Amino acid sequence: MHFTDIAPSVPVGSFKRTKIIATIGPATDNPEMVEQLIAAGVNGIRLNFSHGTREEHLARIPWVRKASEKQGKPVAVIQDLQGPKVRLGDFEGIITVKAGDELSFLYQADYVKTGHIPMQYDLSKKVKKGERLYLFDGKVRTTITRVGHDGVVHALADNDGILIKRKGMNLPDTDFQGDILTPKDLADIEAGAGQDIDYVAISFVQTAADIENLRELLQKQGSTAKIIAKIETKAGVDNIESIVQAADAIMVARGDLAVETPAESVPVVQRQIIGLGQKYAKPTIVATQMLLSMVDMPEPTRAEVSDVATAVFIGADCVMLSDETAMGKYPVETVKTMKRVVLYAEQHPPLKATYPFEREHTMRHAISSSVINLAENIDARAIVAETKSGATALQIASQRPDTALIAVTSEIRTAQQLALVYDVKSYVRPDDPQAAIKLTEWLRQNDVLAIGDVVVMVSGRYPGKTGATDTIKVRALE
Ligand code: PEP
Repeated sequence: MHFTDIAPSVPVGSFKRTKIIATIGPATDNPEMVEQLIAAGVNGIRLNFSHGTREEHLARIPWVRKASEKQGKPVAVIQDLQGPKVRLGDFEGIITVKAGDELSFLYQADYVKTGHIPMQYDLSKKVKKGERLYLFDGKVRTTITRVGHDGVVHALADNDGILIKRKGMNLPDTDFQGDILTPKDLADIEAGAGQDIDYVAISFVQTAADIENLRELLQKQGSTAKIIAKIETKAGVDNIESIVQAADAIMVARGDLAVETPAESVPVVQRQIIGLGQKYAKPTIVATQMLLSMVDMPEPTRAEVSDVATAVFIGADCVMLSDETAMGKYPVETVKTMKRVVLYAEQHPPLKATYPFEREHTMRHAISSSVINLAENIDARAIVAETKSGATALQIASQRPDTALIAVTSEIRTAQQLALVYDVKSYVRPDDPQAAIKLTEWLRQNDVLAIGDVVVMVSGRYPGKTGATDTIKVRALE
């Protein structure tokens, strides 16, 4: 039995359109919890390689596939690479910092013996005098005053605070010059390449070249995974349009982004990124602290509910849960809450909440616009798109049609990757000129579509050939 051979029990039109990603962690680290998360509304599972071992993460993939097959629902697996996330090293107790203090940092130093604060990465090769160095998620802000030949980085504290071992270090001004994949990332990419992974998320992206480097690596290793660019640096924001064009999907990684850039700029950047995602037909993910209080509490705050609804209003493809599902007390309830907020917001959208942008005039865009207009004008129940790579479905979805969107593909990987795309519900069927017709018939038999429903089908003359969409058909189901 294959996951697409189970008909969903809900009729077309009542599906959730904005997708949910959940991060697996200690709170959900078993097959039963993964199954419950997927049943509660999760469409993508994030394996956060910043924590835990490679082996632990890879062992979770079969849990996702099994639950997905059982529930008849394609689910995307995301390998989220740690990237150059620099952290303080180990030391005992707390270091108290006063504004004006001169601090010194050294790779793997012994604090008691040397007085230098240890760091887990040798920053001395990257940073320069005058650059900002933020510690403990931005709670202690410093400016680098000198980088010694002995590898010691000297910095002046701008404010009072405390330091605790292993807390994050952020470098908003530092140019990593394309060197953002660490030896750990390279080993993780290699380990993941032969596995059933749909997306690789790259952290601390600075330029489009970072994406191109990763793509080359993945291709060399035979991986079919797509690339999610995590926007969490100032350089990432400065180069956003070229990064969106180079990547396959974009994550607004608000945790680090709000440290590296002013927190008040993040909602504006979020809206801009979602707009660019729609312009270039690239799915977008809004991440971090969406329902954070549910780590400890069974109810979200009013502000959190509003944050999730806002992501829906401004057109995100996905909303993501991190600590809430990785280490919270209420992981499944959090997903159910998120789904309720998403569905309500989708049923009550405000006018013109989205970011204004000019679309590119491509053939694929023109065909998609015609399909959407036709479907809306004839009050079609669904658009059924035949797609090999997912591009046709992505293009239609990026224009946020009112009509429900169903994809039929011969590629399991494509169905799993489309799980993160707004509105798209995918089914896997063999290459066949009749694939869309046969699927709609099957959906009618399984009460997803009904007799009398009108469906717009879009396909290519050569099934299975990428980018050859040239046929639009209208059918009333009998
Ligand atoms: C973030 O910083 O918001 C984020 C999603 O990245 P991570 O959870 O890997 O720090």
